[in-house]
Amino acid sequence: MVTADRPDAERPDRPGGDAPRRYDVAIVGAGMAGASLAAALAPHARVVMIEAEARPGYHATGRSAAFWQETYGGPAVQPLTAASGPWLDEQGFLSPRGALHIARAGEEGRLDALRHAFAAAGVVLEDRDRAGLEALVPGLRAVWTAGLAEPSCRDIDVAGLHGFYLRAAARSGADLCCDSPVVGLDWSGGRWTITTKGDSIEAEVLVDAAGAWADEVAALANARPVGIRPFRRTMVPLLVDPPAPAAMPLVEEIGGSFYFKPEAGGRIWLSPHDESPSPPCDAAPEEIDVAIAIDRLEQAVDWRIARRERPWAGLRSFAPDRIPVYGFDPAVPGFFWCAGQGGFGIQTAPAAAGMAAALLLGRAMPEWLHGIDPARYDPSRFRA
Ligand SMILES: Cc1cc2nc3c(=O)[nH]c(=O)nc-3n(C[C@H](O)[C@H](O)[C@H](O)COP(=O)(O)OP(=O)(O)OC[C@H]3O[C@@H](n4cnc5c(N)ncnc54)[C@H](O)[C@@H]3O)c2cc1C
Repeated sequence: MVTADRPDAERPDRPGGDAPRRYDVAIVGAGMAGASLAAALAPHARVVMIEAEARPGYHATGRSAAFWQETYGGPAVQPLTAASGPWLDEQGFLSPRGALHIARAGEEGRLDALRHAFAAAGVVLEDRDRAGLEALVPGLRAVWTAGLAEPSCRDIDVAGLHGFYLRAAARSGADLCCDSPVVGLDWSGGRWTITTKGDSIEAEVLVDAAGAWADEVAALANARPVGIRPFRRTMVPLLVDPPAPAAMPLVEEIGGSFYFKPEAGGRIWLSPHDESPSPPCDAAPEEIDVAIAIDRLEQAVDWRIARRERPWAGLRSFAPDRIPVYGFDPAVPGFFWCAGQGGFGIQTAPAAAGMAAALLLGRAMPEWLHGIDPARYDPSRFRA
């Protein structure tokens, strides 16, 4: 647990000479997970974010599909998404979108399963018949006969949110060290010595918010990896003819084989919903996944592809049970997991950071997180 509480965010101790700078908390990774947690912690502790890249947000955070959707990630993730929604909305990071899960004849059972999975959480999912689908997605091919609308789905301003957290953290005194890959971690005398490419930093608590590299960072700390595995996902921007209506919902095939949503200028962002295992890396799209995406789109709608724009890919990193991991490692002192945010790390960031900050500071969960049980996300579940 972090021992400090410094409302006026003192600057880190500089013991003089070449001695390492000292912080209460060092966060490895300044993507959405690291930045949101830094913003939550910095009013109470001396915080540093240590980022390998020249700028934060270069990996998964900068490559998302940018939506907030309660059913995405499953029932264990939904409480974090739902708790984050009101704040994201108040701050202006969400804008109207809606989602539509589409199915072929004979697949109605899958729609029912989705509805049942989220019934207890009260997520609104409304039946749509063929006429209802056509009204929302002009040009939808005749094989798509049933659907479920999820009106609460929103677009999310990812860059705006990430920038907000970085600025909030900085205002409260947090430091950000970019171009600083962590290459060594040593625990002694009740603190970590963190070796980066060109520096040495000390901290009482180390937070592993390293995304696809979370297990590698854990290994540097001699913590047992929990089994975070990165999977590549591809996004293909396309200009389509006729142009995609701006008010069209996010359209998702109920079996999880593609989704697309409208973007500026009549474009769509299309994904084949690929999930190819990958080592942690600077992910790049593969031509086969782009071709699969386009083939699936052509089976969904009768639109012509007027222009293919530059595709991108990113890594979504999951724990073995696909539930994110927040909490102190059960065996390694001062090592806190903030990993496995999969395909929902943007939409869950406010609640996840609030919960992780409460755990780190040894405080009760704030009132706005009352529906969330931190035990569900604790890393000790992998140590049975
Ligand atoms: C194609 C795609 C679509 C997605 N769509 C959505 C969506 O619509 N909605 C949603 O909520 N989520 C979505 N996601 C998921 C979301 O992007 C991630 O869950 C989120 O960005 C994870 O944030 P992070 O900070 O954990 O990871 P990252 O953004 O990857 O940040 C981790 C950081 O750690 C740094 N790092 C790693 N190792 C070290 C080291 N040794 N030393 C220093 N720094 C290190 C890396 O450089 C990196 O910047 C999508 C992801 C992808 C790939």
